[in-house]
Amino acid sequence: MTLDFYEGAAIIRRMAILQELIQMTRELGRVEHGLAITGEGNTSAALGDGTFLVKASGAGLGNITARGFCRVDAARALALLDDPRCTDANAGELLRDALVRAGDPRPSIETMLHAFCLADPEIRFVAHTHPLGLLRILCSRAGVAPFRRHFYPFAVVTCGRHIATVGYHNPGLALARAVRAELARYRRAHGRSPRLLLMANHGAVALARTAAGALDISLMAEKWAQLLGGVQHWGGPSFLPAHAFKHLMA
Ligand SMILES: [Zn+2]
Repeated sequence: MTLDFYEGAAIIRRMAILQELIQMTRELGRVEHGLAITGEGNTSAALGDGTFLVKASGAGLGNITARGFCRVDAARALALLDDPRCTDANAGELLRDALVRAGDPRPSIETMLHAFCLADPEIRFVAHTHPLGLLRILCSRAGVAPFRRHFYPFAVVTCGRHIATVGYHNPGLALARAVRAELARYRRAHGRSPRLLLMANHGAVALARTAAGALDISLMAEKWAQLLGGVQHWGGPSFLPAHAFKHLMA
């Protein structure tokens, strides 16, 4: 088999993205970060050719290898969101039809969510985790509300002025549809995609142009949550004044 120059360059580019995705995913899965254990969480990366890599169902983050990822056709994964045949019960099986390589393992049930996030050309890496400190709040009666106001400047710089939020939805089709609606609302309101999406009773999704960016957002969101727990003991958050945001977002 001979490859022409462009095919060869495309393969090298895909391999480089895969390596970045593996490195980011393993870092997210380090036990000391408290972001994900066992098979929790999933990650993805756009390949720039209408396909993307997403974690296989059930694979752990911390020790993932290339075999833990599937290559998915973005248009076919997105089409499932509006496919009347697709239900919560059969979404996992129908996702197999979106695989580019027939021999790949079954993609994560959150693949449709990843497909919608990666549809924005500014978003190249997506990291979804179940961080311990965040879940202490997201699983409480307070839910996502404490993250609507800022008190820590570096959380603004890393996670953005406004975050996206959804209530609790069953993972898979229902959650992907809720995320699609929220991201569409966010893009209308703010003219761009969010960097951080928080999901009640579930976890976080970091959206970034780079693997390092998605890792930073994930770690900063968890730090923000740890701080929120701490400031409650000292009279509650001292919220940032309005003038701070112009400086921070400059
Ligand atoms: Zn999850």
